[in-house]
Amino acid sequence: MADKILEFVHTSTGKQIAAALGLPVPPMLKRAKAGYAEKSLANANALVGASAFGPAATAVVKALNAMGASIKVSADLAGLDGVKQAAVKAKVEVSISQADNGVPENVYVLDVTAAATVADLRLLYDFFNPRLRKVPSNSRIVVIGRPRGDSKDALAETAQSSLPGFIRSLAKESGKNGTTANLIQVKTGAENAIEGALRFFLSPHSAFVTGQVLPVVGAPKGVKVTAFSEKPLTGKLAVVTGAARGIGAAIAEVLAREGATVIGVDRPADESVLGTTMSSIGGIACPLDITDTDAGKKLAEVAADKGGKIDIIVHNAGITRDKMMRNMAAHLWDMVLDVNLGAIVRCNDQLLADDAFGANARIVCISSIGGIAGNAGQTNYAATKSAVIGYVDAMAKQLEGKGISINAIAPGFIETQMTAAIPVVTREVARRLSSLSQGGLPVDIAEAVTFMASPLANGVNGATLRVCGQNLVGA
Ligand code: NDP
Repeated sequence: MADKILEFVHTSTGKQIAAALGLPVPPMLKRAKAGYAEKSLANANALVGASAFGPAATAVVKALNAMGASIKVSADLAGLDGVKQAAVKAKVEVSISQADNGVPENVYVLDVTAAATVADLRLLYDFFNPRLRKVPSNSRIVVIGRPRGDSKDALAETAQSSLPGFIRSLAKESGKNGTTANLIQVKTGAENAIEGALRFFLSPHSAFVTGQVLPVVGAPKGVKVTAFSEKPLTGKLAVVTGAARGIGAAIAEVLAREGATVIGVDRPADESVLGTTMSSIGGIACPLDITDTDAGKKLAEVAADKGGKIDIIVHNAGITRDKMMRNMAAHLWDMVLDVNLGAIVRCNDQLLADDAFGANARIVCISSIGGIAGNAGQTNYAATKSAVIGYVDAMAKQLEGKGISINAIAPGFIETQMTAAIPVVTREVARRLSSLSQGGLPVDIAEAVTFMASPLANGVNGATLRVCGQNLVGA
């Protein structure tokens, strides 16, 4: 489903009309046109700051260098010393920012992992305040801090707790021109896993992700954080449920783009659409209702037929059966609970019991911001999507010892058949009430899922990432 207003205001006539009437113009987001590239920041000027020299600052400088960025430090000294020492340690060149007479920076990374007092937070102001008027469209801002519980010092925990509020506000301020701002909370000792998260957040693969907090906790047992390689999913077998259309089809396409062989699952009634989607990406169509009591066992058999175990499973299939709670028939409650939640739990249990997951397998579940915000008429749906967030958190602790990681993506308003069915006024409000003033596309969810399924997210486990343009409404 197309966003006609967004398209119109970016035509020459539309621009004139919007300017004459003073209408807000949603930014045209720059999305990835191809897979991850090693030198993804070859054309970027990256301004870097750090509250102190330490492992996070060194990891940031190394990562930006690996991505080919031109690394700048601020001429007005904000966060300079930590970066200079990190650059020496990493044997990487940095130069003084020329923002006033050269190309303005389009990537900003500030490491405040060492911020441990209220006074230390002044760096946030000093680093960002002088530059936010000049940030080019579709720029990328990442702040790096520590997760809750990382320090035993109450004041350090307090200082770090300022960062989610800071980044959410900065994202709302900077989203008008398509710039995103996100926070990586890296656990002490997991700094070597920052690069993958930076590659995602500093790229066009995350165009619709803003105002989010991603914990980087370190790789599960037996999993090594490896150097970046292009087509990172080469040789991987990936199952995607609900893959015939919508978000599932986009997920299958992006996983295949990064090298995976995809087994696409959908209801037998959708077999012909599923076949078309899978043949376009060289995938394998598997008509199967995921609520079948032995669906997991069937998936294990299909994978074994293809000569392998399942490296990635994306639990995407989901349904809505909206009714106010007081009017909801019991079978609608049961149906939504079983498709969106029961089937996921059963399927994973069977795959684990049958030892059908490959080494270092990845499980990605699809939640929804409806599970966070709630929606009138969606008690059944929101209960399942909220449960998915708790499920990945709980299962991450159980699976960590097996080297398997599990995460969730919570989409916001995405332009699909599901949202096309929303009444027009509600739809227009839901779409615009985000920091990027628009809905996302299925590919935005697919990119985030692919990040979670790839070695780029080797340090991420038990997390739920919202892909919603920082939407204010549960969809
Ligand atoms: P669609 O309805 O477009 O696609 C879902 C697919 O899953 C359909 O092909 C559907 O088949 C299939 N499916 C449903 N039940 C089963 C089953 N029992 N076994 C196998 N396949 C099944 O949904 P979207 O692409 O919009 O959504 C994908 C996921 O994203 C869902 O989990 C949804 O809750 C979530 N989401 C979507 C948002 C949005 O804005 N679109 C927002 C937030 C979350 P059939 O058509 O035959 O029913």
